[in-house]
Amino acid sequence: MNQITRRDFLKIAGAASAAGVLGHAPLAHAAKHGMGQGTARVVVVGGGFGGATCAKYLRRLDPGVAVTLIEPSSKYITCPFSNMVLGGLRTMDSITHSFDALKKKHGVNVMHDTVTSIDTGAKKVKLKSGKTLAYDRLVVSPGIDFKYDAIQGYSAKAAEVMPHAWKAGPQTLLLQKKLKAMKNGGTFVMVAPPNPFRCPPGPYERASMIAHYFKEHKPKSKIIILDPKDKFSKQGLFEAGWQRLYPGMIKWVAGPKGGTVKAVDVKKMIVDATLEKIKADVVNFIPAQTAGKIAQTSGLTDDNGWCPVDPVTFESKMRPGVYVIGDSSIAGALPKSGFAASSEAKMCAAAIVATLKGEVPAENSFVNTCYSLVGPNYGISVAGVYRNTDKGITEVEGAGGVSPKDAPDSFREQEAKYTVGWYQSITADIWG
Ligand SMILES: Cc1cc2nc3c(=O)[nH]c(=O)nc-3n(C[C@H](O)[C@H](O)[C@H](O)COP(=O)(O)OP(=O)(O)OC[C@H]3O[C@@H](n4cnc5c(N)ncnc54)[C@H](O)[C@@H]3O)c2cc1C
Repeated sequence: MNQITRRDFLKIAGAASAAGVLGHAPLAHAAKHGMGQGTARVVVVGGGFGGATCAKYLRRLDPGVAVTLIEPSSKYITCPFSNMVLGGLRTMDSITHSFDALKKKHGVNVMHDTVTSIDTGAKKVKLKSGKTLAYDRLVVSPGIDFKYDAIQGYSAKAAEVMPHAWKAGPQTLLLQKKLKAMKNGGTFVMVAPPNPFRCPPGPYERASMIAHYFKEHKPKSKIIILDPKDKFSKQGLFEAGWQRLYPGMIKWVAGPKGGTVKAVDVKKMIVDATLEKIKADVVNFIPAQTAGKIAQTSGLTDDNGWCPVDPVTFESKMRPGVYVIGDSSIAGALPKSGFAASSEAKMCAAAIVATLKGEVPAENSFVNTCYSLVGPNYGISVAGVYRNTDKGITEVEGAGGVSPKDAPDSFREQEAKYTVGWYQSITADIWG
């Protein structure tokens, strides 16, 4: 019988793009799960970047573990590349993934349902359908929720008029519809979120993709980004790209310079920022964020609204036996990205398999690369390597960085190709 070692696993996990590298070698059955007789049951909440990766890699590491994945949607639509849908470069179909491979190829029991409560004492989850599931280990990866009431005038209902489109799906289509209906010469206002939020470069990639759409179809239009922050991810690279591809079209207003929004009026389509009131034709309001609702209601969050975890295993510091990965977790210096969520999920899966066997989880390390498209042939990136220190998960100095500032067009074109390659490989690695 072949055993997969932690070292082997880390090699696979590091090569996140190496889809399909690992076959189904019969791994050691975790019959002696350090918890008595029988098959260990792991329940995973959420079939996104964190949850789907964790479910798949738990089965790869130990096919003796019974893994049940609970996800309400029958298909998963990725936020990555949803900005490209708004830019007219992609269809919704091309960013929609099924759970068939997880079910049929990897033996994950996928249930399309919603977890409504978690009883950490009895080790049971309750589902919307009325069913109850028992678990030995629980992984929670519910993504984010919104603080709808953080700014006066905004609400879940207001998101039907001023869409956030920060969870891909109907909201993406709603924003797209509004952009298509907007007149040439209209004003598009984006209200950017405060830190911490899902996908630090995401708002600025979105502004770029909408600028691309305007350039092609409504060239007299303007984009105003109202931002409570005073800087943003890959700022120099984005601004250079905007200058190059969309001169004069995008205006970014920093918090200290009047970018903080106090209120919105959805009826009059007015955004009230500290220095001026702006009448907009289309508003993309991205609210402040918090851990997914189920993490909040099950006592996994701290006073800041996010989930503190052990940086090696991702076990909750609030509720032992429950693991939190992805955007909901506080993972030190790791950003709230799909790449990081997937990286965390692999480490968490390895830690769970180790502890089920009564072994001590090994040290871990992580990688993250965030590519952004500024134009169809203009890509930029930021990469980082992270490891555990006595300060938690910290970035390894000098191991990452951003794309060079004065790179030639051929370099930007190459990075645009890598952006597409990254998307193909990570989605195949997770849902393939
Ligand atoms: C516009 C945009 C662009 C982005 N681009 C990139 C990019 O280029 N690269 C990158 O790495 N990241 C990108 N991201 C970030 C990325 O989408 C997130 O970081 C990632 O999805 C986080 O994974 P997750 O598993 O934590 O949450 P998600 O992927 O959101 O998955 C959470 C899942 O949990 C399910 N769920 C929630 N509650 C329950 C419940 N009670 N019961 C059962 N299921 C539940 C939800 O239905 C959902 O499917 C982008 C984000 C946005 C908004």
